[in-house]
Amino acid sequence: MTKKPQNLFEMAQAQLDEAASLLNLEPGVHAILREPIREFHVSIPVKMDDGRAEVFKGFRVQHNNARGPFKGGIRFHPDETIDVVKALATWMTWKCAVIDIPLGGGKGGVICNPLEMSEGELERLSRGYIDAIWEFIGPDRDIPAPDVFTNPQIMGWMMDEYSKFKGYCSFPGVITGKPLSIGGSVGRGDATARGGVYAVVEAAKHLKIDLNNSVVAIQGFGNAGSNAALLMRDLFNSKIIAVSDYRGGIHNEKGLDPHKVVQYLQKTGSVVDFPEADNISNSELLELDADILFPAAIETVITGENASRIKAKLIPELANGPTTPEADDILYQKGTFIIPDILCNAGGVTVSYFEWVQNSARYYWDEDEVHQRLNKHMTRSFQAVLTESLKRKVDMRVAAYVVAVARVAEAMKLRGWV
Ligand code: GLU
Repeated sequence: MTKKPQNLFEMAQAQLDEAASLLNLEPGVHAILREPIREFHVSIPVKMDDGRAEVFKGFRVQHNNARGPFKGGIRFHPDETIDVVKALATWMTWKCAVIDIPLGGGKGGVICNPLEMSEGELERLSRGYIDAIWEFIGPDRDIPAPDVFTNPQIMGWMMDEYSKFKGYCSFPGVITGKPLSIGGSVGRGDATARGGVYAVVEAAKHLKIDLNNSVVAIQGFGNAGSNAALLMRDLFNSKIIAVSDYRGGIHNEKGLDPHKVVQYLQKTGSVVDFPEADNISNSELLELDADILFPAAIETVITGENASRIKAKLIPELANGPTTPEADDILYQKGTFIIPDILCNAGGVTVSYFEWVQNSARYYWDEDEVHQRLNKHMTRSFQAVLTESLKRKVDMRVAAYVVAVARVAEAMKLRGWV
């Protein structure tokens, strides 16, 4: 890489550039894929509980829809920026392509601190966001979903608000990750972690690692991280030696009981100070002596600075963008196997796709069916990326980009865009 990326979007562009050069991508196709098709900047007025009106800034970025409607989550985060949303929208395009579902890439974000807002304020903000963008989304246009600090309840309010604009009693296909009773899918709750675990099973076969009793550290204990802990413990009796949240981490060499940590988190709002563990920092957690390290929190935590000290042999990226390109090079040289985000955490959007299919069919599958279909997508895509990585002698991230970019480029060609 010639120039060091200055922000997350430049990092996403640098990753695309590498795949484009391996694929000898036509310059016109490459230029289209380097930028989102559209981006919206909106101002959302919200009446706060104390009677004041506050105006929140929000974004929706639509990166590419050659393979199907734009798809991607909405983040509520105090540090949200347009560059982050553009990077995440770009990654959604690759994610949907690599997992081979007929959707494109989009992402939304609102600058706010949901941890300091009341339920009523959050509801008014969620509805206000839809008021600002409803004309540009829809089941055949752009389908939002949950992401960092947004959840099924928020999706429920947003679906309700959109339905009012359309004059329908319910318009479930506009948004995924909804509560079950208003058109959600079984299996969506833990889909990101479960998909990642299916990918880990394939990686372990390839690397000849025994997952039974494996030692696991997990950065992040939100939807993806907590479910990964529960699944690894329940399926493989893994020893979960550390987990963390935005406030810090907890560590116990003998293993934590993730069920108890979940209960503690629900009671106190954080994993920090869990009684059967020592507190550690988020950066200490990354360097623990574990077989498997799941980054399941935020972007750019594994960097050129700490990569050489990471001991885990397998890094399944449940977060989006946790590893910088510099760290990628260091880890690849060391023989660390990364399951890249666009593949590893694609289980969430895959079950979102199932939800969208079930909404339009108005017929709902059972959990076994969702799990089996998810497993099929994860396994097939993992093998396609692994084959590309071995064939081209490149790391799994570059291979995943090559697979994804080739698929999107083919769709653009067949539609006559280039
Ligand atoms: N926010 C999730 C992601 O980054 C899920 C997106 C979706 O379900 O559309 O993949």
